[in-house]
Amino acid sequence: MGSHKKLHVVLIPLPAQGHVIPIIYLARKLALLGVTVTIINVDSIHETLQQSWKSEDNPVSNGHDIRLESISMDLQVPNGFDEKNFDAQAAFCEAIFRMEDPLAELLSRIDRDGPRVACVVSDFYHLSAPHAAKKAGLAGASFWPGNATWAAIEFHVPKLLEMGDVPVKAGDEKLISYIPGMEIRSQDIPVFMHDGEFQKTGEEQSLYRSKRIALDSWFLINSVHDIEPRIFEAMREGFGENFVPVGPLFPLKGEAIDSTGLQEVNLRTPDESCLPWLDERDRGSVLYVSFGSISFMTAKQFEEIALGLEASKVSFLWVIRSNSVLGMDEEFYKGFMSRTGGRGLFVRWAPQLEILQHESTGAFLTHCGWNSMLESLACGVPMLGWPSMFEQNTNAKLVLEGEGVGVAFSRSGGKDGFAPREEVEEKVRAIMEGEQGRRLKARAMEIRELAVKAASPGGSSHTNLKKFVESLAS
Ligand code: UDP
Repeated sequence: MGSHKKLHVVLIPLPAQGHVIPIIYLARKLALLGVTVTIINVDSIHETLQQSWKSEDNPVSNGHDIRLESISMDLQVPNGFDEKNFDAQAAFCEAIFRMEDPLAELLSRIDRDGPRVACVVSDFYHLSAPHAAKKAGLAGASFWPGNATWAAIEFHVPKLLEMGDVPVKAGDEKLISYIPGMEIRSQDIPVFMHDGEFQKTGEEQSLYRSKRIALDSWFLINSVHDIEPRIFEAMREGFGENFVPVGPLFPLKGEAIDSTGLQEVNLRTPDESCLPWLDERDRGSVLYVSFGSISFMTAKQFEEIALGLEASKVSFLWVIRSNSVLGMDEEFYKGFMSRTGGRGLFVRWAPQLEILQHESTGAFLTHCGWNSMLESLACGVPMLGWPSMFEQNTNAKLVLEGEGVGVAFSRSGGKDGFAPREEVEEKVRAIMEGEQGRRLKARAMEIRELAVKAASPGGSSHTNLKKFVESLAS
């Protein structure tokens, strides 16, 4: 326990699986430093968390001073933002905007009830939280749910607009070199800043978000310094000392990362039956396949991946959420399942961190969501990248090509793209069985060391979090 017993920090995540979970892990890390933490979730997610709060092993707080509060959201998001409310993106953002005044009142009440609030840390993508904190007269900080590369791009949206490089046009191959710390091809700018996508809600919101940069005293980035050192150094020069990496935040089994026996947090119930199934498999022989909590694909995309996997003869564990394949051909699915039944297992939701740490897991076919990639890196698991939306293309470029821990398919998600079955078969075999796979695994293990070291006492991320807490206490 640290000495900041009465220090009180409020955390506000964006209501989406990939945003709520890292904030809960951040809450634990702060609580381990002796800070009192209150997490404000929207009502539906709050109820889910309270269930686990009550359970015996109490995965949320584990005895630390972590408090849960809720705020009502007039759009129901039982598992957070996911494929069920994907079409309602504009309504989702509106509902977040409308929260500003009630959130300001709630923050004032939490502050009055005490301990006095030292800082409100909110997800950078939460459009009303920083303004609510300001209204309540409280200091604000940003939690950045992705990597620093994505943050640097987002922070430079006004410049990208001025230069005419965003929205990115189809086929544009320009090399952009005015963002400090990086050279990036237009096509590797997040797809939500591409032509068509950006006009939906992008420009207005991006400019609105860039205003919060001036409101925040700290930017806590869910990444590791040694994964993107140039960007961190450049951003520190441009935005000050307080733009810092704090990841990885999740607990790892038997590692130096101080998880004090805490478990993986989930907003959905994972199917644990895959763990004994994995126990029976050979070391490094299983390909884990998952596309996160929001991404979905067309029936054609699904079939090409399935047929490529089938032809590769590799064992696999595949998370297929209900509704995650648009227009799924049930006959095809049944046939595929029965043909691959001996060596393939399908689950609706998986205990991902446990799977990535299981010795039977050899590689991860991922949609390149940032949490998934960071989890895979911290577990030393090489990746096959199938990015489809948001900033997944940027993550894929950074981690797979930049760090050399995997390969991306030539064409993957998006409306029309698909990786042909022959390419899927070839790349799956190469990563699971070939010399290339061994090289990628060796590099993944090196990065794992860096990630574990960063999060361990004395490591860069751990030290940054301590500095953040000390700055609030002084
Ligand atoms: N996840 C999980 N079980 C699954 C699929 C995903 O626990 O079956 C978790 C995964 O470990 C990660 C998060 O859900 O922490 C997904 O976040 P990510 O940023 O990778 O993708 P998103 O869902 O935001 O697209």
